[in-house]
Amino acid sequence: MHIGVLALQGDFHAHLTQLRHLGASCGEVRSRVQLARADALIIPGGESTTLWRLLEVLELEQPLRAWLAEGKPVFGTCAGAILLAREILGPDRAGLGALDIDVRRNAYGRQIDSFLAPAERTAPGFEGLECLFIRAPVFERIGPQVEVLAEVGGRPVWVREGRAMAATFHPELTHDLRVHRAFLELASAGGSCRSTAETSSRATPYASSSSPATALARSASAGGR
Ligand code: GLN
Repeated sequence: MHIGVLALQGDFHAHLTQLRHLGASCGEVRSRVQLARADALIIPGGESTTLWRLLEVLELEQPLRAWLAEGKPVFGTCAGAILLAREILGPDRAGLGALDIDVRRNAYGRQIDSFLAPAERTAPGFEGLECLFIRAPVFERIGPQVEVLAEVGGRPVWVREGRAMAATFHPELTHDLRVHRAFLELASAGGSCRSTAETSSRATPYASSSSPATALARSASAGGR
């Protein structure tokens, strides 16, 4: 299992460092050849408008769309999550649609409004997760198949659909390796993006007895909110 990290712009290096700490085989992706080598891909934070432009200039957008269409595991953080969305707001445009989510860019304000906050509700095993938001987007809409893995301020900040994950914060910039470990486990679990909903206990690291979404819903109905 070789994890590619899209290395056009942004904090790709921090993702590679996390993956190396976990002993994963990983490398930068800047070309079609490197993309083809990747069994799973991380799209880092940065500036989504710049990432779109570089994908176009390097003629990587269509290869990336084709790669995603195979249902391979993908994880986008912040600008990466923006790219993976279905619809992007502010300014409006279509994303790659790897998850059934719509995102609003820069929803917390400007760079100076960046903040660190503990996740209030998480899937089991991710309690105490510190989430760093840097000119972050929000998930404006999440589709019915999308599981919420963590919330901050009553909003989802980390979601999963099949083998595609997106986070509006930067797990690569804290010392907590749990989110990257979860992606590695998800990526090595097999199956395609569309089929893991039925096989979540086998295919995800979270679901020993129930899905994270179910776990969150249960704690909400038990007064956990
Ligand atoms: N504000 C950036 C954008 O809209 C994302 C910021 C980030 O990735 N930290 O693309």
